[in-house]
Amino acid sequence: MFVYADNAATTRVSEAAVRAMLPYLGTCFGNASSLYSFGQEAKEALENARATVAGCLGAEPREIYFTSGGSESDNQAIFSAAAQGRKKGKMHIISTAFEHHAVLHTLRRLEKEGFAVTYLDVHENGVVTPEQVRDAVREDTCLVTVMFANNEIGTIQPIREIGALCRERKVLFHTDAVQAAGHLPIDVKADNIDMLSLSAHKFHGPKGVGALYVRRGVTLQNLIEGGAQERGKRAGTENVAGIVALSVALKDACDHMAENAEKVSALRDRLIEGLLRIPHSALNGDRERRLPGNVNFCFEGIEGESLLLLLDDAGICASSGSACTSGSLDPSHVLLAIGRPHEVAHGSLRLSLCEENTPEDVDHILTEVPRIVEYLRNMSPVWKDLVSGKKQFML
Ligand SMILES: *Cc1c(COP(=O)(O)O)cnc(C)c1O
Repeated sequence: MFVYADNAATTRVSEAAVRAMLPYLGTCFGNASSLYSFGQEAKEALENARATVAGCLGAEPREIYFTSGGSESDNQAIFSAAAQGRKKGKMHIISTAFEHHAVLHTLRRLEKEGFAVTYLDVHENGVVTPEQVRDAVREDTCLVTVMFANNEIGTIQPIREIGALCRERKVLFHTDAVQAAGHLPIDVKADNIDMLSLSAHKFHGPKGVGALYVRRGVTLQNLIEGGAQERGKRAGTENVAGIVALSVALKDACDHMAENAEKVSALRDRLIEGLLRIPHSALNGDRERRLPGNVNFCFEGIEGESLLLLLDDAGICASSGSACTSGSLDPSHVLLAIGRPHEVAHGSLRLSLCEENTPEDVDHILTEVPRIVEYLRNMSPVWKDLVSGKKQFML
Protein backbone atom coordinates (compact mmCIF):
# COMPACT_ATOMS: atom_id res chain seq x y z
CA MET A 1 0.00 0.00 0.00
CA PHE A 2 1.18 3.51 -0.82
CA VAL A 3 -0.03 6.40 1.33
CA TYR A 4 1.00 9.96 0.55
CA ALA A 5 0.62 11.94 3.76
CA ASP A 6 2.99 14.84 3.13
CA ASN A 7 0.70 17.36 1.47
CA ALA A 8 2.17 20.23 3.47
CA ALA A 9 5.46 19.58 1.65
CA THR A 10 3.83 19.43 -1.77
CA THR A 11 0.72 18.13 -3.48
CA ARG A 12 -0.08 16.18 -6.63
CA VAL A 13 -0.94 18.47 -9.55
CA SER A 14 -4.66 18.00 -10.21
CA GLU A 15 -5.80 16.63 -13.53
CA ALA A 16 -7.74 19.84 -14.16
CA ALA A 17 -4.58 21.90 -13.62
CA VAL A 18 -2.54 19.69 -15.95
CA ARG A 19 -5.24 19.89 -18.61
CA ALA A 20 -5.41 23.67 -18.30
CA MET A 21 -1.68 24.18 -18.67
CA LEU A 22 -1.03 21.86 -21.62
CA PRO A 23 -2.17 24.26 -24.38
CA TYR A 24 0.32 26.86 -23.14
CA LEU A 25 3.18 24.39 -23.40
CA GLY A 26 2.06 23.23 -26.85
CA THR A 27 -0.16 24.92 -29.38
CA CYS A 28 -0.27 28.28 -27.61
CA PHE A 29 3.38 28.65 -26.63
CA GLY A 30 3.70 32.34 -27.52
CA ASN A 31 5.45 34.93 -25.40
CA ALA A 32 2.83 36.90 -23.48
CA SER A 33 4.79 40.09 -24.10
CA SER A 34 4.78 39.75 -27.91
CA LEU A 35 2.60 42.12 -29.88
CA TYR A 36 1.27 39.68 -32.50
CA SER A 37 -2.02 37.95 -31.79
CA PHE A 38 -0.35 34.57 -31.19
CA GLY A 39 1.46 36.05 -28.20
CA GLN A 40 -1.64 37.93 -27.17
CA GLU A 41 -3.48 34.63 -26.69
CA ALA A 42 -0.98 33.79 -23.98
CA LYS A 43 -1.34 37.30 -22.59
CA GLU A 44 -5.10 36.83 -22.40
CA ALA A 45 -4.69 33.57 -20.51
CA LEU A 46 -2.29 35.29 -18.14
CA GLU A 47 -4.73 38.11 -17.40
CA ASN A 48 -7.64 35.71 -17.00
CA ALA A 49 -5.55 33.81 -14.47
CA ARG A 50 -4.78 37.05 -12.65
CA ALA A 51 -8.48 37.89 -12.45
CA THR A 52 -9.29 34.39 -11.18
CA VAL A 53 -6.65 34.54 -8.44
CA ALA A 54 -7.80 38.03 -7.46
CA GLY A 55 -11.38 36.77 -7.27
CA CYS A 56 -10.35 33.94 -4.93
CA LEU A 57 -8.74 36.42 -2.52
CA GLY A 58 -11.14 39.34 -2.71
CA ALA A 59 -8.46 41.40 -4.43
CA GLU A 60 -8.31 43.39 -7.66
CA PRO A 61 -6.46 41.83 -10.60
CA ARG A 62 -3.82 44.57 -10.64
CA GLU A 63 -2.98 43.73 -7.03
CA ILE A 64 -1.76 40.24 -8.02
CA TYR A 65 1.87 39.64 -9.07
CA PHE A 66 2.99 36.21 -10.24
CA THR A 67 6.28 34.90 -8.89
CA SER A 68 8.27 31.66 -8.78
CA GLY A 69 6.61 30.54 -5.56
CA GLY A 70 6.12 31.13 -1.86
CA SER A 71 9.77 31.81 -1.07
CA GLU A 72 10.11 34.53 -3.69
CA SER A 73 6.83 36.15 -2.66
CA ASP A 74 7.90 36.21 0.99
CA ASN A 75 11.29 37.70 0.09
CA GLN A 76 9.84 40.38 -2.15
CA ALA A 77 7.13 41.42 0.32
CA ILE A 78 9.51 41.69 3.26
CA PHE A 79 12.37 43.39 1.40
CA SER A 80 9.88 45.87 -0.11
CA ALA A 81 8.44 46.83 3.27
CA ALA A 82 11.94 47.09 4.72
CA ALA A 83 13.11 49.38 1.90
CA GLN A 84 10.14 51.70 2.47
CA GLY A 85 10.77 51.59 6.22
CA ARG A 86 14.43 52.45 5.86
CA LYS A 87 13.54 55.54 3.83
CA LYS A 88 11.43 56.78 6.75
CA GLY A 89 13.92 55.75 9.42
CA LYS A 90 11.60 52.94 10.53
CA MET A 91 13.78 49.88 10.99
CA HIS A 92 11.77 47.66 13.30
CA ILE A 93 9.90 44.54 12.17
CA ILE A 94 7.57 42.22 14.09
CA SER A 95 7.28 38.54 13.26
CA THR A 96 6.96 35.21 15.08
CA ALA A 97 9.44 32.59 16.19
CA PHE A 98 7.92 29.87 14.02
CA GLU A 99 7.74 31.37 10.54
CA HIS A 100 8.88 29.44 7.48
CA HIS A 101 12.58 29.85 6.70
CA ALA A 102 11.66 31.91 3.62
CA VAL A 103 10.57 34.56 6.13
CA LEU A 104 13.03 33.89 8.96
CA HIS A 105 16.14 33.88 6.79
CA THR A 106 14.99 37.05 5.01
CA LEU A 107 14.57 38.69 8.41
CA ARG A 108 18.03 37.47 9.48
CA ARG A 109 19.50 39.21 6.47
CA LEU A 110 17.70 42.43 7.36
CA GLU A 111 18.99 42.16 10.93
CA LYS A 112 22.53 42.05 9.51
CA GLU A 113 21.66 45.21 7.59
CA GLY A 114 20.65 47.03 10.76
CA PHE A 115 16.97 46.19 11.22
CA ALA A 116 15.65 45.14 14.62
CA VAL A 117 13.23 42.22 14.60
CA THR A 118 10.89 41.21 17.43
CA TYR A 119 10.01 37.51 17.24
CA LEU A 120 6.74 36.97 19.09
CA ASP A 121 6.36 33.95 21.33
CA VAL A 122 3.86 31.48 19.88
CA HIS A 123 2.94 29.83 23.19
CA GLU A 124 2.46 26.15 23.86
CA ASN A 125 -0.53 26.01 21.51
CA GLY A 126 1.28 27.61 18.55
CA VAL A 127 -0.93 30.68 18.30
CA VAL A 128 0.05 34.35 18.71
CA THR A 129 -2.45 36.85 20.04
CA PRO A 130 -3.32 40.27 18.61
CA GLU A 131 -2.44 41.72 22.04
CA GLN A 132 1.15 40.55 21.62
CA VAL A 133 1.33 42.37 18.31
CA ARG A 134 -0.22 45.49 19.85
CA ASP A 135 2.32 45.46 22.68
CA ALA A 136 5.25 44.99 20.28
CA VAL A 137 4.41 47.80 17.83
CA ARG A 138 6.77 50.77 18.13
CA GLU A 139 6.99 54.19 16.54
CA ASP A 140 9.63 52.81 14.18
CA THR A 141 7.83 49.58 13.21
CA CYS A 142 7.61 49.30 9.42
CA LEU A 143 6.24 45.78 9.03
CA VAL A 144 4.38 43.00 10.81
CA THR A 145 4.76 39.61 9.11
CA VAL A 146 2.82 36.72 10.65
CA MET A 147 2.03 33.49 8.83
CA PHE A 148 -1.62 32.61 8.20
CA ALA A 149 -1.18 28.95 9.18
CA ASN A 150 1.96 27.17 10.29
CA ASN A 151 3.42 24.61 7.89
CA GLU A 152 4.59 22.18 10.57
CA ILE A 153 1.93 22.18 13.27
CA GLY A 154 -0.93 23.63 11.23
CA THR A 155 -2.00 26.26 13.74
CA ILE A 156 -4.10 29.13 12.37
CA GLN A 157 -3.29 32.67 13.49
CA PRO A 158 -5.79 35.49 14.24
CA ILE A 159 -4.95 37.22 10.97
CA ARG A 160 -7.97 39.51 10.70
CA GLU A 161 -7.45 40.91 14.21
CA ILE A 162 -3.71 41.39 13.68
CA GLY A 163 -4.46 43.08 10.37
CA ALA A 164 -6.95 45.44 12.00
CA LEU A 165 -4.35 46.41 14.59
CA CYS A 166 -1.73 47.07 11.94
CA ARG A 167 -4.17 49.16 9.94
CA GLU A 168 -4.94 51.20 13.06
CA ARG A 169 -1.24 51.75 13.79
CA LYS A 170 -0.46 52.37 10.09
CA VAL A 171 2.03 49.53 9.93
CA LEU A 172 2.28 47.31 6.84
CA PHE A 173 0.99 43.77 7.35
CA HIS A 174 2.28 40.80 5.35
CA THR A 175 1.14 37.22 5.80
CA ASP A 176 2.72 34.05 4.46
CA ALA A 177 -0.49 32.28 3.46
CA VAL A 178 1.23 29.45 1.60
CA GLN A 179 -0.42 26.80 3.80
CA ALA A 180 -3.73 28.64 3.97
CA ALA A 181 -4.49 29.56 0.36
CA GLY A 182 -7.05 27.18 -1.08
CA HIS A 183 -7.56 25.59 2.35
CA LEU A 184 -8.96 28.42 4.50
CA PRO A 185 -11.22 31.32 3.56
CA ILE A 186 -9.17 34.43 2.72
CA ASP A 187 -10.51 37.90 2.00
CA VAL A 188 -7.61 40.33 1.84
CA LYS A 189 -9.88 43.35 2.30
CA ALA A 190 -11.89 42.03 5.26
CA ASP A 191 -8.73 40.49 6.75
CA ASN A 192 -6.87 43.84 6.55
CA ILE A 193 -3.93 42.29 4.68
CA ASP A 194 -1.47 44.51 2.79
CA MET A 195 0.64 41.75 1.28
CA LEU A 196 0.05 38.00 1.02
CA SER A 197 2.17 35.14 -0.33
CA LEU A 198 0.86 31.93 -1.86
CA SER A 199 2.32 29.01 -3.78
CA ALA A 200 0.60 26.75 -6.34
CA HIS A 201 2.18 23.45 -5.30
CA LYS A 202 0.51 23.54 -1.89
CA PHE A 203 -2.98 23.35 -3.45
CA HIS A 204 -2.57 20.90 -6.34
CA GLY A 205 -0.89 23.30 -8.73
CA PRO A 206 2.63 22.91 -10.14
CA LYS A 207 5.88 23.69 -8.35
CA GLY A 208 7.82 26.85 -9.15
CA VAL A 209 4.90 29.25 -9.47
CA GLY A 210 3.28 31.46 -6.88
CA ALA A 211 1.71 34.83 -6.36
CA LEU A 212 2.08 37.90 -4.23
CA TYR A 213 -0.94 40.04 -3.42
CA VAL A 214 0.05 43.67 -2.87
CA ARG A 215 -2.64 46.13 -1.85
CA ARG A 216 -2.94 49.07 -4.22
CA GLY A 217 -0.85 51.93 -2.85
CA VAL A 218 1.82 49.72 -1.28
CA THR A 219 5.20 50.16 -2.96
CA LEU A 220 6.80 47.01 -4.27
CA GLN A 221 10.53 46.69 -4.83
CA ASN A 222 12.03 44.40 -7.48
CA LEU A 223 13.99 41.32 -6.53
CA ILE A 224 14.61 40.52 -10.19
CA GLU A 225 15.50 43.27 -12.63
CA GLY A 226 15.01 42.98 -16.37
CA GLY A 227 11.98 43.27 -18.61
CA ALA A 228 8.76 45.05 -17.80
CA GLN A 229 6.71 41.96 -16.99
CA GLU A 230 4.28 42.07 -14.03
CA ARG A 231 3.94 45.84 -14.36
CA GLY A 232 7.69 46.24 -14.07
CA LYS A 233 7.87 44.61 -10.65
CA ARG A 234 9.02 41.11 -11.55
CA ALA A 235 11.12 40.64 -14.65
CA GLY A 236 11.28 37.41 -16.63
CA THR A 237 9.18 35.84 -19.37
CA GLU A 238 5.94 34.79 -17.75
CA ASN A 239 5.43 31.13 -16.83
CA VAL A 240 2.05 31.18 -18.58
CA ALA A 241 1.37 27.45 -18.31
CA GLY A 242 2.25 27.41 -14.63
CA ILE A 243 0.25 30.54 -13.91
CA VAL A 244 -2.83 29.19 -15.69
CA ALA A 245 -2.51 25.94 -13.71
CA LEU A 246 -2.13 27.91 -10.47
CA SER A 247 -5.35 29.79 -11.16
CA VAL A 248 -7.30 26.65 -12.04
CA ALA A 249 -6.03 24.81 -8.95
CA LEU A 250 -6.77 27.74 -6.65
CA LYS A 251 -10.28 28.23 -8.07
CA ASP A 252 -10.94 24.51 -7.70
CA ALA A 253 -9.69 24.50 -4.12
CA CYS A 254 -11.76 27.58 -3.21
CA ASP A 255 -14.91 26.25 -4.90
CA HIS A 256 -14.66 23.00 -2.92
CA MET A 257 -13.15 24.40 0.26
CA ALA A 258 -15.98 23.60 2.67
CA GLU A 259 -16.56 20.05 1.47
CA ASN A 260 -12.82 19.30 1.32
CA ALA A 261 -12.29 20.70 4.81
CA GLU A 262 -15.11 18.59 6.18
CA LYS A 263 -13.80 15.42 4.60
CA VAL A 264 -10.14 16.02 5.44
CA SER A 265 -10.72 17.16 9.02
CA ALA A 266 -12.73 14.00 9.70
CA LEU A 267 -9.73 11.92 8.55
CA ARG A 268 -7.41 14.15 10.58
CA ASP A 269 -9.47 13.78 13.74
CA ARG A 270 -9.56 10.00 13.46
CA LEU A 271 -5.79 9.99 12.98
CA ILE A 272 -5.28 12.22 16.03
CA GLU A 273 -7.57 10.05 18.19
CA GLY A 274 -5.72 6.93 17.11
CA LEU A 275 -2.22 8.29 17.64
CA LEU A 276 -3.10 9.72 21.06
CA ARG A 277 -3.51 6.11 22.21
CA ILE A 278 0.24 5.63 21.89
CA PRO A 279 1.65 6.10 25.42
CA HIS A 280 3.90 9.11 26.01
CA SER A 281 2.84 10.87 22.84
CA ALA A 282 1.48 14.37 22.36
CA LEU A 283 -0.21 16.36 19.64
CA ASN A 284 1.73 19.48 18.70
CA GLY A 285 -0.25 22.68 18.22
CA ASP A 286 -3.76 23.73 19.15
CA ARG A 287 -6.34 21.01 18.65
CA GLU A 288 -9.07 23.34 17.35
CA ARG A 289 -7.27 26.16 15.55
CA ARG A 290 -5.52 23.94 13.00
CA LEU A 291 -5.50 23.24 9.28
CA PRO A 292 -7.97 20.55 8.19
CA GLY A 293 -5.19 18.21 7.06
CA ASN A 294 -2.49 18.70 9.69
CA VAL A 295 -1.44 16.11 12.26
CA ASN A 296 1.83 16.63 14.15
CA PHE A 297 2.97 14.45 17.03
CA CYS A 298 5.89 13.93 19.33
CA PHE A 299 6.67 10.42 20.55
CA GLU A 300 9.00 10.27 23.47
CA GLY A 301 12.09 8.05 23.32
CA ILE A 302 12.48 7.76 19.54
CA GLU A 303 14.20 9.58 16.67
CA GLY A 304 11.89 11.06 14.05
CA GLU A 305 14.31 10.17 11.25
CA SER A 306 14.24 6.43 12.05
CA LEU A 307 10.46 6.57 12.22
CA LEU A 308 10.31 8.20 8.78
CA LEU A 309 12.59 5.59 7.22
CA LEU A 310 10.54 2.70 8.59
CA LEU A 311 7.31 4.41 7.55
CA ASP A 312 8.79 4.69 4.06
CA ASP A 313 9.35 0.91 4.11
CA ALA A 314 5.68 0.59 5.01
CA GLY A 315 4.71 2.74 2.00
CA ILE A 316 3.91 5.87 3.99
CA CYS A 317 5.29 9.28 2.96
CA ALA A 318 5.47 11.59 5.97
CA SER A 319 7.85 14.14 7.38
CA SER A 320 9.42 15.10 10.65
CA GLY A 321 7.97 18.55 10.23
CA SER A 322 10.29 20.42 7.97
CA ALA A 323 11.36 19.29 4.53
CA CYS A 324 13.80 22.20 4.54
CA THR A 325 15.86 21.15 7.54
CA SER A 326 16.10 17.46 6.67
CA GLY A 327 19.72 16.49 6.69
CA SER A 328 20.43 18.72 9.66
CA LEU A 329 20.46 17.26 13.15
CA ASP A 330 18.81 20.29 14.73
CA PRO A 331 15.26 19.71 15.90
CA SER A 332 12.50 21.76 14.32
CA HIS A 333 12.56 25.46 15.27
CA VAL A 334 8.77 25.31 15.32
CA LEU A 335 8.63 22.58 17.97
CA LEU A 336 11.26 24.39 20.04
CA ALA A 337 9.19 27.57 19.68
CA ILE A 338 6.15 25.89 21.25
CA GLY A 339 8.36 24.79 24.12
CA ARG A 340 9.07 21.15 23.33
CA PRO A 341 12.42 20.14 24.84
CA HIS A 342 15.13 19.10 22.34
CA GLU A 343 14.88 15.38 23.22
CA VAL A 344 11.12 15.36 22.62
CA ALA A 345 11.26 17.57 19.52
CA HIS A 346 13.58 15.00 17.91
CA GLY A 347 10.81 12.40 17.98
CA SER A 348 8.34 14.30 15.82
CA LEU A 349 6.09 13.20 12.98
CA ARG A 350 4.01 15.34 10.64
CA LEU A 351 1.26 13.72 8.61
CA SER A 352 -0.51 16.11 6.27
CA LEU A 353 -3.61 14.92 4.49
CA CYS A 354 -5.63 16.16 1.52
CA GLU A 355 -9.01 15.33 0.04
CA GLU A 356 -7.42 12.54 -2.03
CA ASN A 357 -6.61 10.57 1.12
CA THR A 358 -9.02 7.80 2.14
CA PRO A 359 -10.18 6.15 5.37
CA GLU A 360 -8.04 3.16 4.31
CA ASP A 361 -4.99 5.44 4.28
CA VAL A 362 -5.75 6.41 7.87
CA ASP A 363 -6.23 2.73 8.80
CA HIS A 364 -2.84 1.88 7.32
CA ILE A 365 -1.11 4.74 9.18
CA LEU A 366 -2.82 3.73 12.42
CA THR A 367 -1.55 0.18 12.00
CA GLU A 368 1.99 1.12 11.11
CA VAL A 369 2.86 4.10 13.33
CA PRO A 370 2.10 2.42 16.70
CA ARG A 371 3.93 -0.73 15.57
CA ILE A 372 7.03 1.17 14.46
CA VAL A 373 7.08 3.45 17.51
CA GLU A 374 7.02 0.38 19.76
CA TYR A 375 9.73 -1.32 17.71
CA LEU A 376 12.00 1.75 17.90
CA ARG A 377 11.37 2.21 21.60
CA ASN A 378 12.33 -1.38 22.30
CA MET A 379 15.71 -0.71 20.72
CA SER A 380 16.22 2.70 22.30
CA PRO A 381 18.59 3.16 25.26
CA VAL A 382 16.75 6.41 26.07
CA TRP A 383 13.49 4.53 26.31
CA LYS A 384 15.08 1.97 28.67
CA ASP A 385 16.21 4.81 30.94
CA LEU A 386 12.73 6.30 30.89
CA VAL A 387 11.02 3.00 31.69
CA SER A 388 13.50 2.14 34.46
CA GLY A 389 12.98 5.56 36.01
CA LYS A 390 16.57 6.65 35.43
CA LYS A 391 15.17 9.51 33.37
CA GLN A 392 11.89 11.36 33.80
CA PHE A 393 9.17 11.12 31.16
CA MET A 394 8.34 14.51 29.73
CA LEU A 395 5.19 13.50 27.85
C1 LIG B 1 6.07 25.72 1.17
C2 LIG B 1 6.08 26.97 1.96
C3 LIG B 1 6.83 28.08 1.54
C4 LIG B 1 7.73 28.03 0.33
O1 LIG B 1 7.00 27.99 -0.85
P1 LIG B 1 7.78 27.55 -2.20
O2 LIG B 1 6.77 27.74 -3.27
O3 LIG B 1 8.14 26.12 -2.01
O4 LIG B 1 8.94 28.45 -2.33
C5 LIG B 1 6.76 29.23 2.28
N1 LIG B 1 6.00 29.31 3.39
C6 LIG B 1 5.26 28.27 3.82
C7 LIG B 1 4.41 28.43 5.03
C8 LIG B 1 5.28 27.06 3.13
O5 LIG B 1 4.57 26.04 3.57
